[in-house]
Amino acid sequence: MTGLRRVEGFPAALAACRTGDLLRTLGGPTLFDIPGARGRPLFVSVLLHGNEDTGFEAIKAVMARHATSGLPRPMLLFVGNVAAAAANLRSLPGQVDYNRAWPGTAFTGTPEAALMAEVVDAVRARAPEFSIDIHNNTGLNPHYGCINRLDDRYLHLARLFGRTIVYFTAPHGVQSAAMAELCPAVTVECGKAGVAANIAHAVDFVEACLHLRELPATPLAAQDFDLLRTGWIVRVPSAASLSFDGSAADFVFRPDLDHLNFSELVAGTSFGRRRAGAAHRLEIVDGGGGHIDEVFDYAGDAVRLAQAAIPAMLTRDVNAVRLDCLCYLMQRIARDGRPA
Ligand SMILES: [Zn+2]
Repeated sequence: MTGLRRVEGFPAALAACRTGDLLRTLGGPTLFDIPGARGRPLFVSVLLHGNEDTGFEAIKAVMARHATSGLPRPMLLFVGNVAAAAANLRSLPGQVDYNRAWPGTAFTGTPEAALMAEVVDAVRARAPEFSIDIHNNTGLNPHYGCINRLDDRYLHLARLFGRTIVYFTAPHGVQSAAMAELCPAVTVECGKAGVAANIAHAVDFVEACLHLRELPATPLAAQDFDLLRTGWIVRVPSAASLSFDGSAADFVFRPDLDHLNFSELVAGTSFGRRRAGAAHRLEIVDGGGGHIDEVFDYAGDAVRLAQAAIPAMLTRDVNAVRLDCLCYLMQRIARDGRPA
């Protein structure tokens, strides 16, 4: 099932292929080596999460645009979890998440970790110029880029996608953290899957990366970007039930929770309520993987922020909460990493 396939070029048959058909067409995760006019390759990964189709749809559009003239720069394209895509799932049951299995992962010794190590080795051998990893999410989020190094070239690459940039060091085993060892790397979050405007934005970004000769070495002007740092990952304990529609559960979150994404929330902001008398607490994982519990306050069984924070990835999709997290909590920082 795993084991990397290698393909030269981008087969014409893929032009009409939907993400759900890629398993049948490709047989498994595949690295495409697509020639281009000049320069070192752009590395792009898509479908690390099988139900996030924007990246592959964007690549199809880019390849169609350049069908006669060829790409301006070579591209290495990794099409990831085609088995999960066939089921329209982020990951299949029993799989390690394809964006938690890259070098640096906690899931060493798994088929998924071996696969990603093979991809990194193949890409390293080609000395990539830039790396981008294209995702969707399920809540109401602006489009934003994520970087794993506070370096001007990485900031410039993320700024080509948009002015909102998130710096993070956890979770481990993500593509952009592994690729950051080789070249400027960014993860781009393109909003919800299946939306034409989101595909168009991803197309523009891939095109910019293909046409750019090199990233400027000069610093980005401070007024040209908003930089945030992920401080904590918030999870709902697996033993606790949850709802967003007011139905009885251990955690009854407010129905408009995903409208809070990327807003500056003050201490005391309500996320909802927990079951009266229950002892469940949200799990808080910090950037270093330690546990801390002063982020939320449970007085009177209300679930309130105990300190100011900016949430991202809040979603009303219970499945997404179970597979990943309820949200990330961020703080605004300056380019040197200090609180802004
Ligand atoms: Zn994703």
